[in-house]
Amino acid sequence: MAKNSFASDLSQRLDKIRQEGLHRELRSLDSPQSAHLRIAGKTLLNFSSNDYLGLANHPLLKEAAIKAVERYGSGSGASRLICGSLAPHHELESALAAFKKTKSALSFSSGYAAALGTIGALVGKDDVVVLDKLVHACIVDAARLSGAKLRVFAHNDLNELEDILRWANQRHGSASTSVSPRTLIITESVFSMDGDLAPLREMVALKEKYGAWLMVDEAHATGLFGKHSRGLAEELGVSDHIEIQMGTLGKALGSSGGYICGPRELIDYLINRARTFIFSTAPVPAAAAAAQAAIEVVQSAEGQSLRNQLWSLVDQTKSKLTQSDWPLSADRSAIIPLIIGTEAEAVETAAALHKLGILIPAIRFPTVARGQARLRLTLTAAHESEDLAKLLAALSSVTRNTHHATFPHA
Ligand SMILES: *Cc1c(COP(=O)(O)O)cnc(C)c1O
Repeated sequence: MAKNSFASDLSQRLDKIRQEGLHRELRSLDSPQSAHLRIAGKTLLNFSSNDYLGLANHPLLKEAAIKAVERYGSGSGASRLICGSLAPHHELESALAAFKKTKSALSFSSGYAAALGTIGALVGKDDVVVLDKLVHACIVDAARLSGAKLRVFAHNDLNELEDILRWANQRHGSASTSVSPRTLIITESVFSMDGDLAPLREMVALKEKYGAWLMVDEAHATGLFGKHSRGLAEELGVSDHIEIQMGTLGKALGSSGGYICGPRELIDYLINRARTFIFSTAPVPAAAAAAQAAIEVVQSAEGQSLRNQLWSLVDQTKSKLTQSDWPLSADRSAIIPLIIGTEAEAVETAAALHKLGILIPAIRFPTVARGQARLRLTLTAAHESEDLAKLLAALSSVTRNTHHATFPHA
């Protein structure tokens, strides 16, 4: 009886999700990650992956993972602090710190866990967390859970950020606590659903002026931006001014897991205080070994040629899309959102593309704001020019009558 009412309660909630055009479901893939996927017997050209350099199925990463399984087994047995701190985790962290040119690094089981553990460890109820309106859900959740006072500024709006920093310092000045309260600013470097870039230089200037800390999530920039592919902070020359550098091992690095890079004190503190690190089984050795191999590939000549291929595809695609009147961001990243507007229209467009053998799922609320549904087109180094030609032909045939909404932050 109780069970039936439970199921019917949930089924009513699901009906409501369906009515709003927001229902989602899983599709089982029968192939590895690549530019071409097999789903239910059908081959689809994949324009939705975050595997930007095509490393998720790279022979060197696979070999590293297999060797790690042979040497260290499939599981890690416990939390790192109990008995799960295997050599591949330590080797990965040395490689990460060297790659990002920081004193120290710590790996987590996911980027989500890295955000949750780190933000919760660094700030609490007397502190202020300041977020860009478009930061990833894991940062929003972490900031809420931390208990800190939360303030949000309009996307990339430096004036509003400065107003909030001024307010935070006044608030801290009148606080009667024994420890001095902190302000932590958090942004992404490349925004996951818009593909535009944060003004990191200006944000560094502001956080220094107001004595705040800055945390930057490089999930969509690590391996892609900067002379040594460390991320956008490197490209903009501000890496040394960012207190907390965060990222994932699951996107351009082709494996799975998350990381935090920064000074030794930060890493020592997180080992002692980050709950998602302390109270969670260590990632499997294969994931750490594959990520370490990815860091090598990214820094090699092959990595450079993969990036060249990616940026050339991005430039070609954006110029063709602009000719077809799609409003695009002027910033260059591997994420090119095609803003459709209504949820229903975005879903219909994605379905029409699927029929033509192209996979670009519609991105809807709550991932993006209501009424800003979009096709989040991503390119990878594994695409070829002929894949692009197919994409562009399919897009123009299915969107001939589709309204092109304006780019939200142009
Ligand atoms: C994907 C993503 C994360 C989460 O990383 P996972 O390793 O997938 O958990 C965090 N931040 C941003 C901006 C992301 O896009």
